[in-house]
Amino acid sequence: MLRARDVEATGCARAAFTTRLGGVSRGRFAAFNLSYAVGDDARAVADNRRRLARAWGCGPERLVEAAQVHGNRVAVATPEAAGTVVPGADGLVTDEPGLWLIVYVADCVPLLVVDPDHPAVGALHAGWRGTAAGAASVLLEVMGCAYGTRPERVRAALGPAIGGCCYEVDAPVAAAMSPSPWWPAAARRTGPERWRLDLREAVRRQLRAAGVPEASIETIGACTMCRPDAFFSHRRDRTTGRMAGCIRVHPRG
Ligand SMILES: [Zn+2]
Repeated sequence: MLRARDVEATGCARAAFTTRLGGVSRGRFAAFNLSYAVGDDARAVADNRRRLARAWGCGPERLVEAAQVHGNRVAVATPEAAGTVVPGADGLVTDEPGLWLIVYVADCVPLLVVDPDHPAVGALHAGWRGTAAGAASVLLEVMGCAYGTRPERVRAALGPAIGGCCYEVDAPVAAAMSPSPWWPAAARRTGPERWRLDLREAVRRQLRAAGVPEASIETIGACTMCRPDAFFSHRRDRTTGRMAGCIRVHPRG
């Protein structure tokens, strides 16, 4: 069975994070790999995606992906984007009912947001480069421009990602991030030119700085690298599968 976790129940949207459990992929990709781009058997990935779609009661053709290029660009997904990969983007937003935004991760932070007022939703793949470039803030700005979203009304969920327990970064990462106000809270120095970085905390602080209330941010605290039984981790295994964070506005009627 699919072990997706529902994290949002505002009545207008549904969101979930998958784990590695419940699919048909084998070996390094066992079992619920959702990415075609990592070397897994395409038939297994297709089967896994069908399982995900079935669990949500909608077809894979309603799925929109971002190309995930480790940038901070967020694209507005229109109905015409259904079934496509949006080039050059790491984040997607939409107010189209039934259109399913999906980001793939194995250590990077999957961020899902809901604006219950419009309603509209957003999904972001936040690695260190995107986070250093303020991608979570950009997502809220794009939703503000497109839908009039107010950060103080947003609900957000941060999914399974590599934790501050395991994510060691070096000087180039620190140089890119340390000018940011959240750096001291998210990073801990562990040696000469070595830091442990809590990427989720960095994203969470970006959301807070943009005006999202503390109580409106849910964090799934699990570390992907610490839990090989439950999660794929690129840092731990290199060649491995991808989990998903996915969100949609409920279809009409
Ligand atoms: Zn860990």
